Amino acid sequence: MLTIRDVLSSLGGVPSLLNTPLPAFSQFIRLASKLRPAIVHQQVHHWTPSVAPQSLPDDVSRFLVGRLSIPKTSVDGLWEALKDGIWYDGPSLLGEDWVPLPECTPESARPRLSARMLFPPAQVCMNSECLGHGKLLRWKDDPKRITLFTFSEGVQDALAVQLQCYRCGTVYYPNYTAYQGIRRYYAGLPEFVQVSDHKYVERTVLEHFTMLSVLSWTSATNAAHIYHESLSQLKDAEREIARYRLRAEHTWDGFVILALLRDARDQSTVLEVPNGGEQKDRFTAAMRARNERIRRSGQPEYAHYCTRCVRRFDDDGEAAFIDCIVIDGVSIGRPCCGVRHCRGELHTPQDHWCLEHMDQANFCVVEGCRLPHRLRFRTCELHAAIEEHYDATGKGMFNLRTRLQRQRVSHPTDSITPAAPVDEEIEVEVEGGRVVYASGLGLAPAIATGTTAPSQDVSSTSSGPSFQSTADVPVPILCPEKEVTGNYTARGRFGRRHTHNEQTFVRPCAMITCRETFYGSETVPQVLDMLKKKHLIPGSRPRYAYFDNNCILFKHCDSLPGETIHLEMGLPVDVFHWKCKHKKTDEACSYHCNPLAFPELLGEDGKSSHFNSSAAEQTNVWFGGYHAIVREMSAVKYDFFLDEMILRKNEITRAKLEREGCRPGYRTELRFASTDVSS
Ligand SMILES: [Zn+2]
Ligand SMILES: [Zn+2]
Ligand SMILES: [Zn+2]
Ligand SMILES: [Zn+2]
Ligand SMILES: [Zn+2]
Repeated sequence: MLTIRDVLSSLGGVPSLLNTPLPAFSQFIRLASKLRPAIVHQQVHHWTPSVAPQSLPDDVSRFLVGRLSIPKTSVDGLWEALKDGIWYDGPSLLGEDWVPLPECTPESARPRLSARMLFPPAQVCMNSECLGHGKLLRWKDDPKRITLFTFSEGVQDALAVQLQCYRCGTVYYPNYTAYQGIRRYYAGLPEFVQVSDHKYVERTVLEHFTMLSVLSWTSATNAAHIYHESLSQLKDAEREIARYRLRAEHTWDGFVILALLRDARDQSTVLEVPNGGEQKDRFTAAMRARNERIRRSGQPEYAHYCTRCVRRFDDDGEAAFIDCIVIDGVSIGRPCCGVRHCRGELHTPQDHWCLEHMDQANFCVVEGCRLPHRLRFRTCELHAAIEEHYDATGKGMFNLRTRLQRQRVSHPTDSITPAAPVDEEIEVEVEGGRVVYASGLGLAPAIATGTTAPSQDVSSTSSGPSFQSTADVPVPILCPEKEVTGNYTARGRFGRRHTHNEQTFVRPCAMITCRETFYGSETVPQVLDMLKKKHLIPGSRPRYAYFDNNCILFKHCDSLPGETIHLEMGLPVDVFHWKCKHKKTDEACSYHCNPLAFPELLGEDGKSSHFNSSAAEQTNVWFGGYHAIVREMSAVKYDFFLDEMILRKNEITRAKLEREGCRPGYRTELRFASTDVSS
């Protein structure tokens, strides 16, 4: 470590150096420390990066002369005296609080040095197959002019250096290397994340955005707004300059990259994406891979337990533990194929049909009608009245703004255009060829589980529980002759279909363990299927599952030959729900789903429930808050975003449980097992 004595004795040799002004002296130490990478890469290629070079490269010394306003002899003299200290103690000389001098407008159009520079973390080639392995890298071209979006210093101009190994051709960028078309990120989390060719966002800023999304449903667009209004520190004249603008695609990409890097770190791998192609497609495969892994193996908190969701309930003196989850549906969704229950992926979120069902575009949009639609219309001759009605209402009653106003939901987000139709399915009653009543069905109505009658899908399922078996429930085709004059009810879908809801498994301590997208409707066979597939590891199934439709679920299981799950786990409905909504005369209700019939679940008073389901309810309310943000997302983005929100929310919940003394832990036998939830 450099001491004052060292400094004085080395400076003493050159008396003129003692006239150096103190600010220039301290800035010299810090700037030279900052520029170490710029110095080392100009040495001969077998130079050992840990040894301080004898003299400063010309451009660096010129730069220091300009910035510090001291003569070249002083700069060279200071280097001579201080180089070893700067070289070895460099990083510690640059404290967190070091603020470089304000950037002066670079005189040359292609500046090579600046007080704010991003360097690749590597100094020598790391490619183990390269002959130049361990040899010093060289600058590739001049550094790029970039913009930094920082947390505490606002928007800043800076330079980013790219290095190259001339043996193997690997290019080293500040965040990653590029070699043979693969962009490989460095391990760990970088201080600045590159979100476009010339823009880098400080990690703290991206962490802040992610927390805004978790805690207050902030969209990527709004995050970019927030940055400009409260963090950018831009003067009025600078606000419209394009390179100082942070846009929604930047905050979104930053969110994605940070989440992927964090994931790679937790999985002890490195993130690799294609280096070529368009930025918008770059991370799709990596996101898809994580989505798939979480769907199959669950969230990290899948193996969670704590004193709030596990109860010790001794039986005949033997220690026994019981746990439970709460099953519920949350009304959020994304565009999906218009064919009911089809899980085919849309090419873009604007499409109405998946690849397989493209031919559906030729038909009338009234459900069950197989006639071709009229030219430039969406309906056939027979159903013209329905389309006229839809158009005549100006689509007004069916657009999101009206809907939200009616529900008095204020949700300021510009991730969607509020006047856009909510992609309507409308239901009409027609009398004598005239529409007498119409209602929109677009926004999935809040799934008041327990009050919803079991859909016809339950009875139409014959091939056992599976997602596929509920698909394509035949819709009776109305007889055309009757339609023209008669009275009938019909549904027309004038926009895209959205997935029906997200089904969640939440523990009574608010930990979300699983999520699954339900298509078409929330049906009991789907819930049963999910319950099984999410708990394939022996012993992973909770002892109890609260679900408002448990009586239907119980009867459904009971009707399936060989089904035993309903005998192996308790399927109660919650106490409040049971009192208000269930028939006490029905056997399934009064016996199997009666929460009062399970002593392990009852509290001290013998009447209320031991497990508090309100935390789970709260969690689902929180989850539902994303409806507006995710409504226009593609399937890949949707899954990735929601998984990340749950992951971060669970981290917050876990910390809270820890603080409150609930001793959260992981069941090791589940934590490292991987389930295969194939479907
Ligand atoms: Zn190399
Ligand atoms: Zn818990
Ligand atoms: Zn389809
Ligand atoms: Zn028709
Ligand atoms: Zn019931």
